[in-house]
Amino acid sequence: MSITADEQRFLDAITLDAPWDLVTTFAGMHRWRPDDVNTACDVIVDRLRKHGVPVEVHAPEICLSVPHDASVTAGGVKYRAKPPSSALSVPEGRTAPLVMLNANPKALRSYNRDITTLFGGTITSVEEVKQKVAGKIVVMQGFGNPALTSLIEEWGGVGLIAVNPGIDIHWGTCTTIWGSPDLHDLPRKPKIPVVAVNNPDGQKLMALAEAGGEATIRTVMEEGWFAQKIPVVTIPGTEDPDKYVLLHGHYDSWEVGVGDNATGDATMLELARVLWANRAKIKRGVKIAWWPGHSTGRYAGSTWFTDAFAIDLDENCLAQVNCDSPGCRWATSYHETRAFTESAALAAQAIRDVVPDADIRTMRPPQAGDYSFNNIGLPSFLMLSSTMPEALRHEKGYYDVSGCGANIAWHTENDTLEIADQNVLVTDMKIYLLSILRIINADVLPFDWTATCDEFTATIASYEAASKGGADLSAARAAVAELKAALAGLGAAPVAARNEAVQDLARILVPINYTREPRFAHDPAYTVPPLPGLAVAAELTQLAADLQKPAQVELMRGQNRFVAAMRAATKRVKQASA
Ligand SMILES: [Zn+2]
Repeated sequence: MSITADEQRFLDAITLDAPWDLVTTFAGMHRWRPDDVNTACDVIVDRLRKHGVPVEVHAPEICLSVPHDASVTAGGVKYRAKPPSSALSVPEGRTAPLVMLNANPKALRSYNRDITTLFGGTITSVEEVKQKVAGKIVVMQGFGNPALTSLIEEWGGVGLIAVNPGIDIHWGTCTTIWGSPDLHDLPRKPKIPVVAVNNPDGQKLMALAEAGGEATIRTVMEEGWFAQKIPVVTIPGTEDPDKYVLLHGHYDSWEVGVGDNATGDATMLELARVLWANRAKIKRGVKIAWWPGHSTGRYAGSTWFTDAFAIDLDENCLAQVNCDSPGCRWATSYHETRAFTESAALAAQAIRDVVPDADIRTMRPPQAGDYSFNNIGLPSFLMLSSTMPEALRHEKGYYDVSGCGANIAWHTENDTLEIADQNVLVTDMKIYLLSILRIINADVLPFDWTATCDEFTATIASYEAASKGGADLSAARAAVAELKAALAGLGAAPVAARNEAVQDLARILVPINYTREPRFAHDPAYTVPPLPGLAVAAELTQLAADLQKPAQVELMRGQNRFVAAMRAATKRVKQASA
C-alpha cells in the first residue's frame, strides 16, 4: 500500500502553526492541580474555536489524588521525595524499620504481580516475602507502581520507598483502581504511604536498611472529587454520520509535561483542525477528546467518558486511537508500537507509508495509558508512538521510562520544551492522521480478525505447552478454528453486513483477550495476560498440590467463557455471510 492522492491532500494540510503554538503555551503551564488543569482546557478550547472547530465541554466530577509534599527522614537526614498519586496521606509521618528487597531491573516499569518476575528470583515464595516485609517500610529499586504497592500492602508492609534509577525523582501513581472508584473498587485504595526518592538518596536508604535502620515517611495528599473539564470535538462523516473513530489523549501532565503530553495535545488539535476543514471528504466520523485526570486520577477522565457514553461507544465507535508522547526529540523509531492484533497491520502500514525506512514492531498494549475501552471492546492501536532507537538510548545510558519517546525527562520537572521536536512531531501527526483516514474512508473496515484468531491459537498452544500436559485446551482450540473458518467466508458478504460484523466482533474478541471483569466495568491497572480465562493453564506446574484442583475449576470456567465467546463470534460471522 502507498499513500493515495486523496490521503496525500489530507497529510499536506498538516502544518506546525497551531500545534507548536499549543506546545509552547503548555510548556509554560503546570497542568496537574485541578484548577490548573481546567485552565489548560480553556486554552485548548480557545485554540479550537480560533480555528473554527466546534467543541463541546463536559465537566464531570472525577476522583483525584493530588500530591502536595513528601519526605523521608532517616539517620538524622531529611531526603527529598515525591509521593505518587493515590499514596496514603500521612502528614504526621509514619516510622518503622526499613527492609530492602532486591528488584529485578527488567521489571522496573512492570505492572506485573508475579513474585519471581518482581524480585528476579531472589524471593520465590509469598511466605518468605511476608516474613521479611511485615511491619516494615520496604525500600526497593523501581517506580512506586500499583502492582508493587498492592503487593507490599498484602504482605503486611507499612510503607514503600521506591528508589528511582537516576538522579531525578519521577512522578507516578500507585493505585490499581482504574478511573473513579465504584463501591466494588474502593477496597483496593492504597492503604500505605508511598514515596519515590532519587538513586543516590535511595542507595543510602538501602544501606541503612541493610544495617537495620528505621525511617519516617511523610506524605501530604489532597484527595477528593473535582469538576474537571473534558473537551470533545465531533466531526461527522458524510456517509455514515453515526459511526466514528475516537482519537484521545490526556492534557493533564506532571509539571509542564511537554513530551508527555503537550505534544499529544497538539497532535490532536491539528488533526481536529485538518479533519474539520476537510469534513466534506470523510465518510465516517471522528471524535477527538482531551482527558484530565490521567496523572492524578489514573485515567479518570477517559474512564468517565467511557462510562457516560458507554452505549454510544458500544453501538457506534469503530476504534480507539490513543495519543500519548508523540513528537519527542530523537524519537525516530517505531519498534515499540502498541496495537491490538486486528489493528497491527493498519498501524504498521501507516507508519511505513509515512516513514519508509522505519524500524517497526507492534506489540500488545499494557494495562495502562488511557486504554479505558477494553471492557466495551474496541479495536485499538497506538499509545506511545515514536521512541528513541535502542542503540541511541543505550549510548545515552538512559533507563527505561514509559513516555516522552524514551527521554528520561519523563514525569519530571525536566520535561520541558527541549523534549519536543518539530520534525518528529510532523511525522507523528501524519501517522495518526493517515491511520485514522484508513478507517473512516475505507469501504471495508480494516480490522483483521483472522490475525486475531491466529494470535489466540498461538496463545492456547503456549499455555498448553507450559502446562506440560496438565491442561486440556482442545475445546478452545477447536472453537477458534471454527471462527477462523467462518471468517474465510466473510469476504463474500455484502459490504454493509461485513462492516457490521467486523464491528460486532470487536465487542466479543477484545474483552475475551484483555479483560477479566464484565463489559461496562473496568479491570484493575495491572497486567492482564493474553486470554486471561485460560492463563491459569500456564501456572499449573508452579502451583502447590492443594491448589491443583481449584486451578482446574478455574480453567474449566475460563475455557467455558472462551468457547462461548468464540461460538457467539462464529454465529455473528455466519449471519453476515448468509
Ligand atoms: Zn502520558
